[in-house]
Amino acid sequence: MKAAARTPRRPRKATNPTQKDPVGVYCRVRPLSRADQECCIEVINGTTVQLHPPEGYRVFRNGEYRETQYSFKEVFGTLVVQKELFDVVAKPLVEDLIRGKNGLLFTYGVTGSGKTHTMTGSPGDGGLLPRCLAMIFNSIGPFQAKRFVFKLDDKNGVDVQSEVEALLERQKREALPTPKTPAGKRQLDPEFADMIDVQDHCRAEEVDEDNVYGVFVSYIEIYNNYIYDLLEEAPCDSIKPKPPQSKILREDQNHNMYVAGCTEVEVKSTEEAFEVFWRGQKKRRIANTQLNRESSRSHSVFIIKLAQAPLDADGDNVLQEKEQITLSQLSLVDLAGSERTNRTKAEGNRLREAGNINQSLMTLRTCIEVLRENQLYGTNKMVPYRDSKLTHLFKNYFDGEGKVRMIVCVNPKAEDYEESLQVMRFAEMTQEVEVARPLDRPLCGLTPGRRLRNQAFREELSRKLELRGGPVGAGPEEPSAAELFFQSFPPLPSCELLDINDDQTLPKLIEALEQRHKMRQTLAEEFGKNVLAFKTMLQEFDSSVASKENYIQGKLAEKEKTITGQRTELERLEKKIKTLEYKIEILEKTATIYEEDKRNLQQELESKSQKLQRQASDKKRLEARLQGMVTETSLKWEKECERRVAAKQLEMQNKLWVKDEKLKQLKAIVTEPRAERPERPSREREREKALPRSVSPSPAPSAPAAPLRPRRSRSAGERWVDHRPPSHVPTETLLQPRVPRAITVDAPSERALARCDRYLLTHQELASDGEIQTKLIKGDVFKTRGGGQAVQFTDIETLKQESPTGRKRRSSPPNPDPAGDAADSEWTDVETRCSVAVEMRAGSALGPGFQHHAQPKRRKP
Ligand code: ADP
Repeated sequence: MKAAARTPRRPRKATNPTQKDPVGVYCRVRPLSRADQECCIEVINGTTVQLHPPEGYRVFRNGEYRETQYSFKEVFGTLVVQKELFDVVAKPLVEDLIRGKNGLLFTYGVTGSGKTHTMTGSPGDGGLLPRCLAMIFNSIGPFQAKRFVFKLDDKNGVDVQSEVEALLERQKREALPTPKTPAGKRQLDPEFADMIDVQDHCRAEEVDEDNVYGVFVSYIEIYNNYIYDLLEEAPCDSIKPKPPQSKILREDQNHNMYVAGCTEVEVKSTEEAFEVFWRGQKKRRIANTQLNRESSRSHSVFIIKLAQAPLDADGDNVLQEKEQITLSQLSLVDLAGSERTNRTKAEGNRLREAGNINQSLMTLRTCIEVLRENQLYGTNKMVPYRDSKLTHLFKNYFDGEGKVRMIVCVNPKAEDYEESLQVMRFAEMTQEVEVARPLDRPLCGLTPGRRLRNQAFREELSRKLELRGGPVGAGPEEPSAAELFFQSFPPLPSCELLDINDDQTLPKLIEALEQRHKMRQTLAEEFGKNVLAFKTMLQEFDSSVASKENYIQGKLAEKEKTITGQRTELERLEKKIKTLEYKIEILEKTATIYEEDKRNLQQELESKSQKLQRQASDKKRLEARLQGMVTETSLKWEKECERRVAAKQLEMQNKLWVKDEKLKQLKAIVTEPRAERPERPSREREREKALPRSVSPSPAPSAPAAPLRPRRSRSAGERWVDHRPPSHVPTETLLQPRVPRAITVDAPSERALARCDRYLLTHQELASDGEIQTKLIKGDVFKTRGGGQAVQFTDIETLKQESPTGRKRRSSPPNPDPAGDAADSEWTDVETRCSVAVEMRAGSALGPGFQHHAQPKRRKP
């Protein structure tokens, strides 16, 4: 379904959400119809009533007789008069109405409990409705606008028109034939005539006298969930009466519900208003009779609307501004009897209708219940206002559009006990509901006391006129001064001449005419005088007006000056504002530029700091790497130094040992006789045999004088243990050691040694010039006493390469890499191990040597 487009709405009437008032619930107990009737309700005090079940209804609980008490804002007993009730309950609502606030007052109770008596009254005992009307007119009577100055539109709004327009409309309407009885000559039903005679001069305390007021009334009836306009002027056909047309509810732009197309009559007095009510009441009765309806099953709603608008600044005419009009309304509702259907013994259609009516009261009860629950427990349940016309119409009141008051009427007779109990329960619950308090309407902004000043001025003017020229503004009944003069003129005698000798008629006529002439002259003189006096007065008035005008002009000039000054000031301020705005604009632009700069600089700073960080971390890394390299290099060199030192030491030791040996041999040669000198040891010869191609120019070292340990017997061919450590680096030299019939091992084992009698260790080391230097350390193998093998070194052959240009010519680099370094350390290790493992002993036998064409450098130990 497509949502209908709606015109934008004005906000709701201002309410104060923080200040809420509970629904005012009052209880009125009517007197019993007969003194002998059984009573079941007792007024305990000003706020409490007690219900006790009558004989027939007595309920026992736990063996006890059950009584229930109900408290209200105020309880009115049987002796309370209408005025008292009005003063407490309705008067504040009327005061609110005059202050521009809405109000709802309804009577609730079973049929016969006194609802209508309370609302409308009984003959001679006017109820709340006529009293409200009386109070309204007592209060606003002198300030009422002329009829038709206020005009209600058909959208629940009000408009204002000038007095001239209102006059024209009045004349137009008066020209139309109207069935109404002329005002002032109303013939009220004697039954009701007494009701308006409330003899109450009650009036509101605060009436804005600078406002003009207009009162409108409407009267509707809700029956069987249909709304009927009781003031609608419909042609009445007594033979075949037409059923009344029901009305619909609409919501205005202020969210207020109203009956669309409902007749609203402007009334100017209590009588007129009550007459309208009476008309509606009569119509209601006729409809009930014609349609066979039960009056107690319908709700009647009498709505009083009060329009008020401020007077203009002169206090003369109503201000022609629609926005300044305040429209408030007081709804007086006489609800249908709250009793259940079976009580009325209705049947058929009437039963169904009654059911519907009860349904609307049920809805009212449900709405109140939901409202109460929402407010007590903070829930947000939807209040089912729309379920019945009655609740829908009063939705706004419960939503905070005004004060709500309810009078619960009860008949204390025993037969009504059960119904009264229900009524009491509902009433107690209702007073727990709170309604937001409406705010006071704002003042129009014009100076107060305008009406009074205007009146005083008029009175002064008329007084002055009176003083000068006699009574002014006398009514048509009162003869004027001129008329009085004319009346005092001597009557003209008859001027008929019947007789020729008549000498009396003409002289009498002449005399009368002369008298008249004299009087005319006197009158003319008087008139002249009066004219003069009037002229003087006018002149005086003119001068006073002129002086006033001057004064006003002066004031105006002053004001003008002030205004001009203020305008200049305003212009200056505007200029200043413009300048400031311009400055602000420039500053804003500058600020934007600075911000941009700041952002850029910040970005730059960030990138630079990032770069710095990166550089710092790079530096750290580099430092660490360099540190590592330094440590590594220093370690390497330390090792290298150690190795060289060790090699040197070994070499020196060897040299020392060889020298020692030589010395020993020399000593032996010196000490031993020449004959006994042994032949060149066979071992030497054998060595020569074994190394036939070995070029060794240096003499073979002499063998030790006497072996310390038994030597293995030599066979024809010596056997060598050729010890080549695994770290051996093959050199590309032409001279290579080659040992025939040798057992080649990479570590000297006892088994190998046991099978051989010569030992050869091929040792490589780095010379000081960075070249590989190969040494062949030779020795004899001995059997030790313990059964092991010992090697006695006898000879060292050294092969060293040299570059003629001094450039390194090694196949493998010296040892920039850790592998080379490891190899170095291994050589050192082997040397060390050998020096420790072997038992050193000088030997003269020469072992295998370098087989090369080149001249090897040979050292002799
Ligand atoms: P309802 O409107 O509740 O059906 P009514 O107002 O018609 O009841 O009252 C029924 C009768 O009781 C009427 O005759 C009325 O005059 C009378 N009555 C009701 N209340 C009072 C009262 N407080 N004092 C005197 N008579 C009363």
